[in-house]
Order: sequence, then C-alpha cells, then structure tokens
Amino acid sequence: MHDDRSLLDERLTRTVRQRIRPEVYGAAVPLTLEVWHAPGEPVPVAEALAASYGPAKVGDAWGAPWATSWFRMSGTVPAEWAGRHVEAVVDLGFTHPGPGFQCEGLAYTPEGKPIKGLAPRSTHLPVGTSVAGGEDVLFYVEAAANPVIQDIVPFQPTELGLKETAGADPIYHVVRAELAVFNRDVWDLLLDIEVLNSLKNELPDREPRRWDIQRSLDRALDRLDFLDVPGTAALARAELADVLSRPANASAHQITAAGHAHIDSAWLWPLRETVRKCARTFSNVTALMEEYPEFVFACSQAQQYAWMKERHPDVWQRVKDKVATGQFVPVGGMWVESDTNMPGGEAMARQFIHGKRFFLDEFGIETEEVWLPDSFGYSAALPQLVKLSGSRWFLTQKLSWNQINRFPHHSFYWEGIDGSQVFTHFPPVDTYNSDLLGADLARASRQYSEHGKATRSLVPFGYGDGGGGPTREMLETARRSKDLEGSPRVTIEAPAAFFAAAEAEYTDAPVWSGELYLEKHRATYTTQARTKQGNRRSEHLLREAELWATAALLKGGYDYPYEQLDRLWKTVLLHQFHDILPGSSIAWVHREAEARYAEVAAELESIIAGALSTLVGEGEQTVVFNAAPHSRSGVPGLGAGAVDSGSAQPVSVDGLVLDNGLLRVAVDERGLITSIRDLVADREVLAPGTFGNLLQLHVDTPNQWDAWDVDPFYRNNVRDLVEADEVVAVDEGKDVGAIRVRRTFGKSTLTQVLRLPAGERRLDVTTEVDWQEVEKFLKVAFPVDVHADRSTSEIQFGHLHRPTHVNTSWDAAKFEICAHRWVHVGEPGYGVAVVNDSTYGHDITRKARPEGGTTTTVRLSLLRAPRYPDPLTDQGFHRLNYSLAPGAAIGDAVREGYRVNLPERRVTGSGTVAPVFTVDNPGVVVEAVKAADDRSGDIVVRLYEALGGRARAVVTPSFPATGVRETDLLERTLADLSLADNGVAVELRPFQVLTLRFTR
Ligand SMILES: [Zn+2]
Repeated sequence: MHDDRSLLDERLTRTVRQRIRPEVYGAAVPLTLEVWHAPGEPVPVAEALAASYGPAKVGDAWGAPWATSWFRMSGTVPAEWAGRHVEAVVDLGFTHPGPGFQCEGLAYTPEGKPIKGLAPRSTHLPVGTSVAGGEDVLFYVEAAANPVIQDIVPFQPTELGLKETAGADPIYHVVRAELAVFNRDVWDLLLDIEVLNSLKNELPDREPRRWDIQRSLDRALDRLDFLDVPGTAALARAELADVLSRPANASAHQITAAGHAHIDSAWLWPLRETVRKCARTFSNVTALMEEYPEFVFACSQAQQYAWMKERHPDVWQRVKDKVATGQFVPVGGMWVESDTNMPGGEAMARQFIHGKRFFLDEFGIETEEVWLPDSFGYSAALPQLVKLSGSRWFLTQKLSWNQINRFPHHSFYWEGIDGSQVFTHFPPVDTYNSDLLGADLARASRQYSEHGKATRSLVPFGYGDGGGGPTREMLETARRSKDLEGSPRVTIEAPAAFFAAAEAEYTDAPVWSGELYLEKHRATYTTQARTKQGNRRSEHLLREAELWATAALLKGGYDYPYEQLDRLWKTVLLHQFHDILPGSSIAWVHREAEARYAEVAAELESIIAGALSTLVGEGEQTVVFNAAPHSRSGVPGLGAGAVDSGSAQPVSVDGLVLDNGLLRVAVDERGLITSIRDLVADREVLAPGTFGNLLQLHVDTPNQWDAWDVDPFYRNNVRDLVEADEVVAVDEGKDVGAIRVRRTFGKSTLTQVLRLPAGERRLDVTTEVDWQEVEKFLKVAFPVDVHADRSTSEIQFGHLHRPTHVNTSWDAAKFEICAHRWVHVGEPGYGVAVVNDSTYGHDITRKARPEGGTTTTVRLSLLRAPRYPDPLTDQGFHRLNYSLAPGAAIGDAVREGYRVNLPERRVTGSGTVAPVFTVDNPGVVVEAVKAADDRSGDIVVRLYEALGGRARAVVTPSFPATGVRETDLLERTLADLSLADNGVAVELRPFQVLTLRFTR
C-alpha cells in the first residue's frame, strides 16, 4: 500500500485548525463592557464593585504594566438559544503563546463571589448547560496587566520588573467578550482527535496500532460535513469509537496523574501578584471539581493556603470544602517550596514545622510526601529532616535539567548524610506542567529507568504560574487515556496513593547517597547578595531572639513573644522560596525582600534588647552575651558574663606584617598577602608563589538564565585585582593588628580591612564594596599549601565532602558549590577553614606543582552582576565578612562558623547568665533553644552531632526540669528519656539531629 501518511497528517492539521476548532463555539452575541481602571495597587473586590465604571468595548487598550482594570460585563441570552449549552468567552488579550506569564483575570458574581479564573487556555465562564433563553448575565472581571517578562527572545534585559520603571502605557487590548453557544460534540471530537493523534505520533512507524489510528482519523474526517460541523461531529466521533475503546497493553506503564499548578510564590511577578494567582487558580480547580468528580489536585506551599485564608475567604472556603472531599490535596509539608541549598539547619527544619503544622491545624492532614519539583538542587540533610518531620517520601523532577549527567534512577531511596533514607520519585515525564497528551505520556514511559523492576510513575498535570491549573480538556484527555491501547494507563489519584503503591512494589529500589546536585543554576548561590545576606542575618537573629527570650522566660517576669516570632519566622521562610533566596526574581521582589529583611532585623533586635534587659541586673559592668554554642573569651556558649581575655599575646604590627604569636601575616605594597606563617604548626599556609586574599574579576556571560547560571567558561577570562590605591596599617587597639587596602577597578571601589585578633589563630577580612560592574563575577582566592582530595562544606546540621579533582563528569560538573558558614580543606594532620557571614557560593580546585606538592585553592564567590531578570542586580554597596582559620580541624570550622555569624553583644549591667543548656561535648552542637510552640511553657533544645561520628553527651538544663522527651521536629513525643540530677545523657549517631523537650 502507498505510504500517504504525510498527506493524511496535513489534512488532519488543517481540518482541526480551520474547520473544527473554530466551531467549538457557534452562535455568539457580544457582551456589554464597562471598565474601571483601578489606580495603584490591587483592591478588595467590595471596593471594586462600588467603583464607578465607564464605557468600554472590545478592542480597547487597558492595563499599564502591573495595573489592574475591572470590567463589568453584561448581556442577555437570546431566547432562541433555549436548551443550548451557553458560555461567556473572554479574551483579555492573551497574546503570548505561553499558558501563563501574561495578563490574567478572575471573574466575580455581582455579589463579589469568585467564579473562575481567566487564562490564555481557559477563557470560558459558565452560563448554563441548558439555558432557558432570555436570562440576563452579569459578572465582573478583575484583569491584571502582568507584563510578559520572559518573552519569545528569552533573557533579554527588561525594565518591566519594577513598577517605577515599567512604563505607564497600556500593554493589552480586549480581544473578545461574548456569550456563545458551546458545541459539546465538536469539542468532544476535537479531544478525541487530539488524544488519538498525539498517541499515534509516538507509536513506532510500522506498528499496526499506529495505522489503525491513522486510518480511523481519516475516516472520521470523511464523515465531517464542513458546512455543518456541529451537526456531523457525532458521526465523525463514531468512526473513532473503536480505536478509542481498545484496552491498554497488559504490561503498559502505569501513570498516576496528579492535577497540579506550580505557582512560584514570587518570580517574574511580586509576592502580591502570587496571592491573586492562587485565588484565580484555586477558583478554577474548585469549579472544575464540580464537573469532574474524579479530579484530584495536589497543592503544596502552606503559605499559599494561608494567603487565601487571610485575603480570599470565599476561595478559602471552597478549598476547605474540597480538601474535605479529598479532591484538593495538600502536599509537600513545607511553608513554601523553598530553596534547599542555602537555608540554614534550623530554618530548613522550620519549613517543615510550619508547613506540616498548618495542614494539621487547618485540615487534620499529615502530609507525607515532600513536593519540590522545581528547587535548584537538594541538600543531603533533607532525608533526615523529612523523616523527623513525620514524612516518608520525596518528589522532584528538577534533576532532569542537568547539563552533563543523566541521573540514573526515577524511583530510589535517597540517603542523607546521617544515613536516613526516604523513598524518592523523579517523574520521568520531566515536567510539572503536563497536558497529559501523547507526547508527555510516551516520554514518561520511554524514559522511566525502572522498567522490569517497577511499573509506575507520576505525572503532575496542569498549567502553573497563572495558567490556571488543570483544564477541562486535560480531564477529558485523562478519561480517554485511562485504558487505551498503545498508551500508558492513566489514573488520576493523589500523590500519596502513588507513593504507597510505588514503594510497596519496589522494596529493593536502588540507593543514591548524598546531595542531589543540580548541574545547572549554580550562580543562584551568589546572585542578589543582599537577599542572601538578609536571610543569613535573619536566621541568626532568630536564633538569638529565641535563645534570649527563653532565658528571660525562665528568669520570670517576661512575656515570650510567641506570636511575633511565629510571624517573623514565616516571613523569613517565605523569602527562602526557590526564586527569592536564589536571586532569580525581578527587581521588585528583591527590593521588597531587602525591605522586609530590614524590618525583620529591627523587630528581632528589639526582642533581643528586651530579653537582654530582663536578664542583666543593675550595674556598671560590661556583660557579654554569647549566643554561639561554644564558649569564647571566657563567656560560655548560650550564656553571658564578663570577658576574660586571658593572657593572649598582644598583636605586633611591623610595617605591613602582623604577628600575634600564633600567625604571622605579611602583606606587600599591593595589599596582597605574601605569607601566612602558622607559628603553632610551624608551616607556611600559602602555596609557594601565590597570594592570599587575591580578588579575581571574571567575565560572566552565561548562555542562558543569567541570574541563575554560571557556565564553566567564565574561568577563561579573569583579571587579578592587584593594583591598590592605598595599603596602610591601621591602629585598632592593642588586641588587633589591622591593615587597610583600598582598590578601584572598573567603576567600583573596594576597601578591605585585614585583622589579626590577639589570641586567635584566625585572619579576619572585612570587605566594603561599591559594586558597579556589569556581567562580572567577583571571587576571592586563598591558594593554600594543602594536599586535599576533597573539600568539606557545611550544610544543614552537618557537612558534606566533594572531590577537589575532576576525574569524572560528575565531579567536573560541580565546578561551583554551595556551603553555609564554612568550607574546610585538609590533609592528615593539618587543615584550613574559610568561614563567612554572607556567602554561599564557592569553588575549590587543586593543582599539582611541577616541583612537587599540591596547591588547593579555596575561592569564595562574593558578587555577580547579571542583567536578567533584574537589570541592576547587586549594584551598589555591600559589606561582607570572611575569615581564614589555619590549622583548623572540622570542629574548629564549626565553632568559627557560628562565631562569625553570631557576634557577641555587650550590655551594661551586672552578673552572669547561666547557659539555658550546657552540653559536655563540643561536637554536639545546640542549633536552637526555644519555648515549645504549644505555649505550654516547656523548653525545647535542638542539637546535632556536628563532626560526623558517634557521640555521647550530657545535656544539662539551667532550670529545674521535671521530665524530658525526645520529639520530632514538630515537638511531638518520640520517646521518654530519663532525667538525672545533672541532666539527660544522650547518644547520637553521626550527624543525628535530636530535639529534646523539657517540662518544668
Ligand atoms: Zn518554580
């Protein structure tokens, strides 16, 4: 037989486009439009309903970028439409091809109740499936002029990301607003064709099934009378009934389809717009659930539910009703879908605590699956935290974005640094926005790595980010693909049902140990430095505020600020969202984040000041508070007292040489460190012929995703900043030797002060920079004479090793890495730590020297300057601190990491404050001290084993305790422990996180 496939395909394409699709809606009458262009920011619906509206019509321009226009739309259903299915169709000007990322609307009844959202691929509003004819129709549409930031030409710098620079001219035109007859038969035919044709396109060329479908589609078109498509659609469908009814193959892949809408809590729009995006999407999906009882929608991010509760009570009620029926399914158990590289240990724990508690309090639901489809790599601390929060499973698909290596598994046990394992699934469909058509379903089956061992994968379907979520077309597609020859079997169900079945059938699933490093978006450890610094400062201020407030509560006469701390934590958690903390949002989001962090800091400083004044007595002494877990200058960790600087040798400054008896640091006339002599170990720290604290400026022009990506070729183009405007020794008193270096480069100026404190084996560097570079990457290098096979980086509640060599493609892909407060490189007997108070990005390389020996170069990634999506990223003033600690073991690195982030506080008064808890093992570190969240007055301490070995410790409270329990992160009892006079004896496995709850 002749191969006429291309002829048939062309026929189908043209017929669908020009004959069938335009007939989905038949007769139409225009709606009468009126408009109110709301001034300023969005207003509540009641205010909009009461506004005064002016005339408008289709074709009118509306909406300056970020503005809101309210349309009143009215009309009368023609009498002759009696018995027909009628809808309103509204196109606000959906011009961009994407399903979201542009203007959007939410329709309200005249009483102000939400009806459903309007999005590019969901433009209808219900009127009636069998109208009487003659009825009046009236509704309001809140139309949001969200500009297209990510356009056809991607990553173009744009001024649209800040309201002040976005312009004042309207950017949209109303395209359509009418009542129309909905031809259900035509729509059904269209869906039959799309399902079958997309399936056919995925089948092998000579597969009989492919040809059965091809010929059936051809016959269906033969039955269609182009002069009367609505009247002949049923005849055409009859030709497709047979191929649609043939059951799936016995061994077909099984797909759990979970409705979803990935709504970034801020990104190419500000936080306030996300609140409205959620209202629109949640209105859509709850309306769709009425039509499709099988529809299940998985929704993560407790914050987004909380927004509905606070600001959209009608939507919230609809969500609650559908949670109760099991159709609207809370998942994830986190406050937001946060970044997981950068949040500190306690903050990572609070993501789970606040997320899970919200779902428990509001719905009585214990979420068990962690849902992070889009975050930029996953910390090896997560498996333990997932388990300690009471969850069991983990989901992402982001590693499908790897640039180099293909991840080997789709279902597996993921093992964290402490040995905890969670069953994990990477949907092989490689998207969280599926349309459930043949291409996606076939890709899921084709790519699935576990065939022969396991049979199921999950497909999240629905348009996110303003696309409105799942559509009725997707639900029809799912019905047709439930049991269809040649297709995977599609079942709509909740993710938990998938995980339970997937884990049960795959008890010998493979194990992946360690971090899930994303081989992309590596610059997110550095971009938007002020946002990152705000996060780091907030985390440590929260620690201090909870610690000192707890101490004050125990002393008495102090009201523990439960509400305020809860609110501040949630603000910080929100800003850890995976496009805020990583620095990948528009300018609006980051300017707002900086303002929020400043407010958070001010509130926390005031809590701390209040607590400290409760704790110190009257007097004229200087009382020093030490919120770090380890003692310093004679002041115990978590306590306060007088400083005892002991008998440290004073620091000598001789020209540009600093010497404190432990280190001797020599600086040349260019401000470069030429020698760091470790006088304790009697060895030179710097590699021969190198300079310490060498600032290096790279050209940084990634191929795409400017704020997110740094590509390895950035290293090819570097300028060492070796010219100095000024290098002088400065007198900072007898306890410190200091040298100030000032440099200019490009349009930027930078001042560094190198300090050698008395009695400390540590060099501190403070950097103040007015950064005015464009598409540059600033790093600072410490090339040290250490033979290190691997580097060690602090992560949440522990640390992680990564190779310094590039033997394999997996090693080479990690050319930029994330660390928290410290990195460490070492050889047996000697190591060096580099600690910081604001930096996450690092790179650590090594080079063998021709004369023998190895140079290991530790670099901190200080600043970047990408132009998309924020054209002024990181411009302006920054202040950063980092330190070099020669001779440091891992335990020293841990201690110094806390120290640099928790400066001591000096208060005038008298007396001492006993540490709320003392721990007799420095390797067992206190991460948080707080009053129990249930406000019972119990005191909670969270500790962890920080060195990577087994540890015993006695934890002694300063207060009379009546009992102690081990709890999960949510402070729910796991085990009763026995309390002796001197406290509770505990034994921890490597990197174990332990939460103890003391009753009083
Ligand atoms: Zn996202």
